[in-house]
Amino acid sequence: MAVTTPLPWHASIWRRLVALQDDGRLPHALLLSGPHGVGKQQLADALVARTLCRAPGAVACGSCHACQMLASGYHPDLKRVSPADNRRQIRIDPIREINAFVAQTAQQGGYRVIVLQPAEAMNVAASNALLKSLEEPGERTLFLLLADVPSRMLATIRSRCQHWALGVPEAEQSLPWLAEALGDAADAEFWLRVAGGLPLLARELAAPESRALRQSLQELFDALVRGGEPVAEASRLDRQAVERILWYGIAWLEDLIRLGLSGDTARVRNPDLLPLYRQAVKNGRVQDWFRLLDYAREQQRLLVAGGNPNPQLVLEAWLVRWSALLRS
Ligand SMILES: [Zn+2]
Repeated sequence: MAVTTPLPWHASIWRRLVALQDDGRLPHALLLSGPHGVGKQQLADALVARTLCRAPGAVACGSCHACQMLASGYHPDLKRVSPADNRRQIRIDPIREINAFVAQTAQQGGYRVIVLQPAEAMNVAASNALLKSLEEPGERTLFLLLADVPSRMLATIRSRCQHWALGVPEAEQSLPWLAEALGDAADAEFWLRVAGGLPLLARELAAPESRALRQSLQELFDALVRGGEPVAEASRLDRQAVERILWYGIAWLEDLIRLGLSGDTARVRNPDLLPLYRQAVKNGRVQDWFRLLDYAREQQRLLVAGGNPNPQLVLEAWLVRWSALLRS
């Protein structure tokens, strides 16, 4: 079932998009960017639905033939392009199909809509193939490109899209939504803080399986602080979760750096880890935390780019470095 209503913290950007659309001034290519968990997908879905709807109001009507087709999961004038398998590139073949698709007339007589996500996954050949369609899209075509990190896209693609950057929402806008999603206001506050203010990420992290991962990482952190053996500890972790494990490692390092630099506990994102942080801060030096942070970010970048094939090795190397720092 497609989402047709934008998230509450996107109300004002939604009004601007709708006003442009109703004036016929919505550009034919939009780049929606923002960190994972900000709600790009929901905003795009709402815009897709309203663009294809035959009787749109403030949002898609939900009951016309187009809305019904969309709700059933198939609309002939909508194409979605994502990497064929997890975190790989978008290659040229699906882009060629898009080029053929936009060269045809819309089957339902309205708009053709193309959603590309994540846009930074397009390789150079795919990006170059897309350029022509972005330059001469034909009548009533809407391209929506979604990107976590738009700087990783080709500049020539970026420059042909109108760029809408979605920032971290104010907590007062996202907390009521999250409290309802999680069924608990205190829980919502805790997870929103852990997620750095990103509401959909907070909801993801608060899911049972994800909570369990954080719990094991916390135990592992504790074991390493007490001199545990990193490679043995690594075997307890699910290597499929390596990306999330690195994400937590980075968030905790950032906390440690904040704490080490300022001693300010108010800005720490994981307040429940303060006892562990205090032990760790006693051992490590801030410049070493920065070095480990650089390392973790580089590993994360490689993983996202599909550049490092062995998550087990990434995990072990990561824990060995953590452990060396915690013991130094
Ligand atoms: Zn409709």
